[in-house]
Amino acid sequence: MNTEKIIELEHEYLMHTYSRSDLVIEYGNGCYIFDKNGKKYIDLVGGLATCILGHGNKEFTEAVKSQIEKITNPTNLYYSEEQVLLAERLAKISGLGKCFFSNSGTESIEAAIKLARKHTKKTQIISTKNSFHGRTFGSLAATGKNKIKSQFRPMLQGFSHVEYNNAPAIEKAITPKTAAVILEPIQGEAGVIIPHKDYLKWLREICDKHEILMVLDEVQTGCGRTGKFFAFQHSKIKPDIVTLAKGLANGIPIGATIASDDVAKSFEKGEHGSTFGGNPVSCKAANFTIDFILKNNLMANASAQGKYLIRKLNNIKPDSIKEIRGKGLMIGMEMKSNPSTAIKSCIEKGLLANLTADKVIRFLPPLIINKEVIDKAVKVLSSVLEDKKL
Ligand code: PLP
Repeated sequence: MNTEKIIELEHEYLMHTYSRSDLVIEYGNGCYIFDKNGKKYIDLVGGLATCILGHGNKEFTEAVKSQIEKITNPTNLYYSEEQVLLAERLAKISGLGKCFFSNSGTESIEAAIKLARKHTKKTQIISTKNSFHGRTFGSLAATGKNKIKSQFRPMLQGFSHVEYNNAPAIEKAITPKTAAVILEPIQGEAGVIIPHKDYLKWLREICDKHEILMVLDEVQTGCGRTGKFFAFQHSKIKPDIVTLAKGLANGIPIGATIASDDVAKSFEKGEHGSTFGGNPVSCKAANFTIDFILKNNLMANASAQGKYLIRKLNNIKPDSIKEIRGKGLMIGMEMKSNPSTAIKSCIEKGLLANLTADKVIRFLPPLIINKEVIDKAVKVLSSVLEDKKL
């Protein structure tokens, strides 16, 4: 089927919830993506932080294929080896106790909200302004962006939103009914907002002092993207609950909610569940992904290449750039005005980058990226930004 026909069918048969670029993706290879017409693009979107190992990794394919050949979803009515192996890996890496598996970021947050309420027997949760936690009703209530909530009120009750990167504001919002605080260690959809280096440490102290739970949403920051497996590991603290999704299974759907033993044991049989959650295909993909990250030092690579990319971006000097910020391979380039035209030109010249928070060009490339790919990408970007005089 040709590109035009595919776009026509999308308009006809899909609900119009996404603004898509006029581009039909056919396949990928490493940090490159190819469209239906065979045109090659450098991929700095990385499946929105999901394709950690890059595209078309043959060993990954073999691993997942071997599981599909055995069985796809025996369900949680029975035990499964890949599921327990993944839970053990995540419990050990996080230093927490037990996992619950679902299929997406938003579901990992739903589980966290239910668990926090059940454990504390309290109903209020403090979140942060401009945060993004997902689109289902619990996660949407936790989300701090009015724009995506306004058409769907009333929200789930009990959520308040305070300024991000302001620890006293969290403490001030605590009431006797507060169960937990939920936040992203770096706000992603808000435009890669990096808080003070001691923010999480201060929040940990506040949560301990007031005996409330600290829930960290690492759906975007997790799986090595910031240079450590969990972004909270930079702060030398541990949350009570942490959520993962996106990169965990290299693009295969999965969500994980990991909690300390004490908190985790509050969930009793029948209180939460998922038909697909923890299926052996997703778990095999996640086990392979984690092993690959560790074996190939991808966290160190994320750190080094992230620094290199920021340095190269800082060498582009058009007036249109306001600020460049990031940690590891989660990088935002804030522009003075909306850069949609520049992003379109990048696509024309063979570079995929993502726009978030109206003015931020966001880079979430595969963690396997190297200097050669970065040099090529920055060359395209700088020519576009200089061309367009944005
Ligand atoms: N939490 C964070 C921090 C996210 O960035 C996202 C997605 O962008 C989500 C939750 C929701 O994840 P999903 O789209 O897999 O439901």
